[in-house]
Amino acid sequence: MSRDEALIPLVPSSDEAWLREQASVITDPGELLAGLGLSRAELPEALRAAADFPLRVPRGYAARMRPGDPSDPLLRQVLASGEELREVPGYRADPLAEAEHTPVPGILHKYHGRVLLVVTGACAVHCRYCFRRHFPYQSHLPTAARLDEALAWLAARDDIEEVILSGGDPLSLTDRKLGQLLARLAALPHLKRLRVHSRLPVVIGSRLTPALTALLGDTRWQSVLVLHANHAQELTPALRDGVRALQAAGVMVLNQAVLLRGVNDTLAAQEALSLALFAHGVLPYYLHQLDQVAGAAHFAVPDAQALALHAALRARVPGYLLPALVRELPGDRSKTPLAALHHESAGTLSHLQASPD
Ligand code: SF4
Repeated sequence: MSRDEALIPLVPSSDEAWLREQASVITDPGELLAGLGLSRAELPEALRAAADFPLRVPRGYAARMRPGDPSDPLLRQVLASGEELREVPGYRADPLAEAEHTPVPGILHKYHGRVLLVVTGACAVHCRYCFRRHFPYQSHLPTAARLDEALAWLAARDDIEEVILSGGDPLSLTDRKLGQLLARLAALPHLKRLRVHSRLPVVIGSRLTPALTALLGDTRWQSVLVLHANHAQELTPALRDGVRALQAAGVMVLNQAVLLRGVNDTLAAQEALSLALFAHGVLPYYLHQLDQVAGAAHFAVPDAQALALHAALRARVPGYLLPALVRELPGDRSKTPLAALHHESAGTLSHLQASPD
C-alpha cells in the first residue's frame, strides 16, 4: 500500500463482521425491491436517479424494513427515486457553501474553536437526502500529502480545541487507520476534544468494536460520538451493547437526526425515536431541518410543520429527550434554532399544533 492510500479505507483488511457487512452492501435497486416483495414498476426511474449517487444499503439494515411496504421509513431513506431528478429552485449542489470554508483541502472551518476534518468519502449507506451527495470528495480525500497539509494547518491554529471527524463516514475507516490518524492528532497539544460524526453504527451495529471503544475511550481527550439515526426502527441490540461499552469507557454518545417527510415527520415517530434512543443509551442532540441539496426536495418538511411538531414533542418527552430543532445556514457561525429564525418562541406556537401526526 502506498502512503497516499494509507488513510483511505474500502478494502477490508480483517475478517471483522462489520467489514464483511460493509463489503457486501446491496447496490442494485432491483435486488432491494425484489427482496422486499415490492413492485419494480418504478425501477427505471430509480436506476436513473442512482446513476450519479449509487444505491448502497447494508443487508442487515434492509432486513429491518417491512416487507411489502413501499412507505417503509428505512426504505424511503435509501431507495433512489425519480423525484430526485426534479430541479427545484433553491436546491443546489453545495447547500451550505462549504467550499467557502475550506482553508486547506480536507478541513472545513466554520465555527469558533472547531473544525471538521474530512477523512473519507466512503459510507456504508447512501442516504438520498445527504447534503454532501454532490461533495467533491476527490479534492478532499486525505492522501498523505493532503493530510500532512491539514495537520500542519491545525498545528498552527492553537485556537482550535475540537476536531470533528467527518466524511463520508469516518467510521468506515478501519480501527487501525483510525488509530494512526488519532495518534497524529493527539500530538497536537491544543486539541482538547475529539468528536466523531457517524451513521455507520446505526446501519451496521457491529461497527462499535472493542478496538474502536478502546481508541475513543483510551485518550487524553474528551471524546464524543454523534450518531445519525432518524427512526426508532433503525436501532438494534448490537448498537445498544456497543453504546454501553463506549459509555463505560467514558465516551459521550449523542444523536442527530434529519427531519424527513414520509420518514419521521409525525409526533409518533419523533416520540418513538427519542424514547428508543434513550433506551439504547443515546441522548437526542439535534433535529435538523433538511439542507437544501439538489435531489432531496421531496424530503422537505415546511418550517411551520416542523415547529409545530417540535412543540408537540416538547409536551410529550422530558427535556433531556428533546433535540434542538435547527437549520444550518450558509455563512452562519453556529446552527440556528428554527424558532429563532422565525422570530417565534416555542411558547407562541400553540396555533401550529394541530395534529402534526
Ligand atoms: S451516512 Fe452521512 S455522509 Fe453518508 S450518505 Fe448518509 S448522511 Fe451522507
